[in-house]
Amino acid sequence: MAVPCVRVDREAGERTRARLAEADLIDETHEIVSAEGSLYIPVSDPDAVPDSFEVVERSVPRRETQTTPADLLDFTPSYERLGDVVIIDEDDPTRAEQLAEAIVASDIPCETVLNRASKIQGERRVRDWELLYGDRTEAIHREYGYEFAVDLADVYFSPRLATERHRVVEQVAPEEHAFDMFAGVGPFAIPMAGHGAEVVATDINDVAIEYCRENARRNGVAERVTAIHGDVREIAPDYAGWGDRIVMNLPHSADEFLDTAVELAGEECVLHYYDIQHEDDPFGPGTRAIREAADDYEVTVETERVVRSYAPHEYNVVLDVRLSR
Ligand code: SAM
Repeated sequence: MAVPCVRVDREAGERTRARLAEADLIDETHEIVSAEGSLYIPVSDPDAVPDSFEVVERSVPRRETQTTPADLLDFTPSYERLGDVVIIDEDDPTRAEQLAEAIVASDIPCETVLNRASKIQGERRVRDWELLYGDRTEAIHREYGYEFAVDLADVYFSPRLATERHRVVEQVAPEEHAFDMFAGVGPFAIPMAGHGAEVVATDINDVAIEYCRENARRNGVAERVTAIHGDVREIAPDYAGWGDRIVMNLPHSADEFLDTAVELAGEECVLHYYDIQHEDDPFGPGTRAIREAADDYEVTVETERVVRSYAPHEYNVVLDVRLSR
């Protein structure tokens, strides 16, 4: 059966395998194949593979020793893994039970099976879950060499943003001041500190901020991360003019926080602005809102990027915008 694989020259094979493994993207249920001078590395989520890699469909042998949930079912299952927590999205209770049983009986590491029970909702951007197996909702997720503890019942987290976070983190310079306005458990803040930035991370969810602090310690960057619980609008006056880089990952309502971002911005500052917009004009509304809020600055849009599809005809997008006084 053909599966998505990253194709690389054999010489770059081990380096690439290690990078994909760090991002938890290797499909361990299929063999890596070497052919015609290339290595074919099966990947679990082709959309999350960085653009710098080539993804192709290739027939590779299934690993003999692994039993997958698909082997045990008469339908093709879809699931996501966050450490040893497996996440499914099944409305039909019978199918949900069957899938949970197959996941537990398969060889994939699993301590918990969670079914999505609501949309992401409310100010804290958390969803309800149905616990189908296990007794905890906490996961340890690995991404690009960092480790994040996260309790899905209490905080927002999406492993699908791994590539996008990595793209932002790669731009960070040592000693710069990076302010993450909506930090969650720290998946932007902590790697930015890992790149040498001094980071301030705020979140209105006290549980998220506790995890952010724990994750900073876990990854050895606690001395460079100041995690503050509260509404960023109330915290911003203490950091007015401080930011060289500002991350705004609250896509449905980031525009309401642009005045706060401008208050935080230094003389020269890069804004990473996440938005959800219609495919007809995915970047226009954000660009106009930023220009209006930052009218004291020269505003240069450096990147317009579709992060992923959000709903039919709607995209989750990012703008990297330079503000120069
Ligand atoms: N950046 C994190 C990530 O990538 O996993 C979390 C992003 S999540 C979409 C948005 C976060 O913003 C939530 O954790 C929520 O609690 C927080 N939030 C919402 N309103 C806020 C406010 N006024 N001030 C600070 N944080 C806020």
